[in-house]
This record gives sequence, C-alpha cells and structure tokens, in this order.
Amino acid sequence: AGGQDGEVGKAQRAAAEVGTEPTIFSRIIDRSVPATILYEDDECLVFRDVAPQAPVHFLVIPKRPIPRLSRVGPQDAQLLGHLMVVAARTAQAEGLSDGYRLVINDGKHGAQSVYHLHLHVLGGRQMSWPPG
Ligand code: C5P
Repeated sequence: AGGQDGEVGKAQRAAAEVGTEPTIFSRIIDRSVPATILYEDDECLVFRDVAPQAPVHFLVIPKRPIPRLSRVGPQDAQLLGHLMVVAARTAQAEGLSDGYRLVINDGKHGAQSVYHLHLHVLGGRQMSWPPG
C-alpha cells in the first residue's frame, strides 16, 4: 500500500503540474475569485497582482491553463506572442512610459507558486539587477 500511495502521490503531483487541477487563476477567469481586471479578450486576462511588488504590478494570463513556460510547445507560439503584446499595451495604458519589467517564473528554481502560466509586469519605480 505504501508503494501505491507513493505512485498515487506522484500521479497527483504530476496531474497538478500538467494543469488538470484548476488553480486560483482559473477561479479568477471564471469570476468565482475576485480580482481587479484591467483587460480581457478571448485568449487572455489581465489583472492586478494581489500582493504588488511595485507601484504597478499586474499579471497577464492565458485563459487556457498552460501550467508553466517550460511546458509550452510550438503550438503555443501565437498565444505567447499575444500575451506579450497585451502586456506592452496594458503597460502603456497604465502610464509606464519610463519602462517596466516583464517576469515569468518557471518551476522551483524560478520560484513559481501558481501553476498557471503568467507574465508579471512591474513598473512605476526603478528596478535593479540582478533579481533575487
Ligand atoms: O510567479 P508566481 O507563481 O510566484 O506568482 C504568482 C503571483 O500571483 C504572485 O505575485 C501572487 O501575489 C499572485 N496572486 C494574485 N492573486 C491571487 C493569488 C496569487 O495576484 N489570488
């Protein structure tokens, strides 16, 4: 039974990683969790990060729940490009004329905490480099 539990545990973790488990972002998309939404279209949603790390900090997410950047394939290229275009347009609408930073955290070393792909857009202050 211990071995089976081990396999079940592994499968459950793998399932979460491939996006079959809905994340909090699916609940923001379907409006069962509130968020301050800045933009929406058929493919993506933009909302303010609930714990902003800069005067302006919003997230751009695909509606399709891709779990993480390292899982994308060639079929996702158009969608990923769209997310970046929307990030840039929303940054402009937010008045970030002096620039901003785009961040995608992937996996453990990237300190990803929500396994639904998202672009962070941070601005409104001077950023530093390297990031922590
Ligand atoms: O890249 P990472 O996965 O660490 O970022 C997840 C982000 O989602 C965090 O910045 C967190 O503040 C944000 N978040 C949010 N609204 C929620 C849950 C998380 O804006 N309800």
